[in-house]
Amino acid sequence: MTMLSYDQARQKVIEVVGAGRRALECEVVTLNQAFGRVLAEPIVADRDYPPFDRATRDGFAVRAGEVAGRAGALEIIGEIKAGDTFTGSIGPGQCAQIMTGAAVPPDADAVVMIEHTRASKSRVVIERSVEPGQNIVPRGSEAQAGQMLLTPGTRLGYAELALAAQVGHHRLSVFRRPTLAILSTGDEVVEVEATPGPFQIRNSNSVSLASLTTLAGAEPVQLGNAPDRIEELSAQIGRGLEADILVLSGGVSMGKYDLVEVVLRGLGAEFVFEGVAIRPGRPAVFGTCRGKFVFGLPGNPVSTMVTFELFVLPAVDILSGAEPRPLPFLRAKLAAPVRQTAPLTHFLPARLDWPDGEPVVRELPWQGSGDIVALAQGNCFLVVPPAKLELAAGDWVDVFLRRGVF
Ligand code: AMP
Ligand code: MG
Repeated sequence: MTMLSYDQARQKVIEVVGAGRRALECEVVTLNQAFGRVLAEPIVADRDYPPFDRATRDGFAVRAGEVAGRAGALEIIGEIKAGDTFTGSIGPGQCAQIMTGAAVPPDADAVVMIEHTRASKSRVVIERSVEPGQNIVPRGSEAQAGQMLLTPGTRLGYAELALAAQVGHHRLSVFRRPTLAILSTGDEVVEVEATPGPFQIRNSNSVSLASLTTLAGAEPVQLGNAPDRIEELSAQIGRGLEADILVLSGGVSMGKYDLVEVVLRGLGAEFVFEGVAIRPGRPAVFGTCRGKFVFGLPGNPVSTMVTFELFVLPAVDILSGAEPRPLPFLRAKLAAPVRQTAPLTHFLPARLDWPDGEPVVRELPWQGSGDIVALAQGNCFLVVPPAKLELAAGDWVDVFLRRGVF
């Protein structure tokens, strides 16, 4: 198998998961439970928005034609608060005091800001002329009754939820969150609560993977750690295949005890890719097994995190009923030169700042893909493409934001 670029590998994931997914199930949740979920029903405007000609300033509702060039004062015939039903009519030479959010009566066609007036008890001097329509948002100008506002597949952020609330949907139909089983592997790995022996390490991957899973919008199912023995690994993987997605960490490299692919093959897995032209994360594998999607991510903690973001996230998106999110890339100016030699795409722990309003990125010193200490000092990955492995200070480069810290 030739090694795919990270982009080609991502595309493969999107193709295979898109083609292999089953019908998505829905559930109904309250607005307060819906943040981050994916909408499964259309949301339509129940009435015009705004539902009336809305004043956007505190001031006086006037007939604009009368105000232009007028020296004298207008008679104030009443007051209109937000929520009021005003029944009076504004005749020639008259106006009504009005508050932000109130309905402008049909006889008036503009609102003069209070700052541009001098009022006594019953009369007001208008100091500036207004255009017809000024400081009014006309009925139906934001949306018309029956208009589609949110389509199925939309991820619900705070603005989308506010919109659903505005049009009266206190419950929403959303797609069921996919389940994602997390299984770390390795004889040397002990649980975080345990005291590691001198050459053992704590299971940090199951922790980063659970956060990444939640952040992605899937439901993590923690399966703990499997030793590097075929029978146990096989039994645990079997359990993991009950979830929609199984993510393994470790055991996919070339070592004698890297057994994940062997065991998966024994269970009938077919691999879509085995290895990607990236560092860290080169040994990552993806395939299908018993109708489920399986990712074998390398066990080095930084590799695990990078490969989850690159390859697992789009699978979660598709199984959540959403479009795969684009990678959160932006361009920044390089603070100091960077040099790599391997013809791979490199994802280097880095720190992005805006010292003078311009984005500047600096690579952090690190000891390779096991170095979470360096990773946690940063907030992004600096992307070094195989086509340009030597970058100079001042070059504009790609930066891959670390989700959850931005
Ligand atoms: P592997 O991919 O199994 O060859 O593991 C590569 C490196 O990652 C080794 O140094 C492992 O000790 C380390 N590693 C594997 N699994 C975990 C884990 N769950 N948590 C932290 N480090 C791990
Ligand atoms: Mg291992």
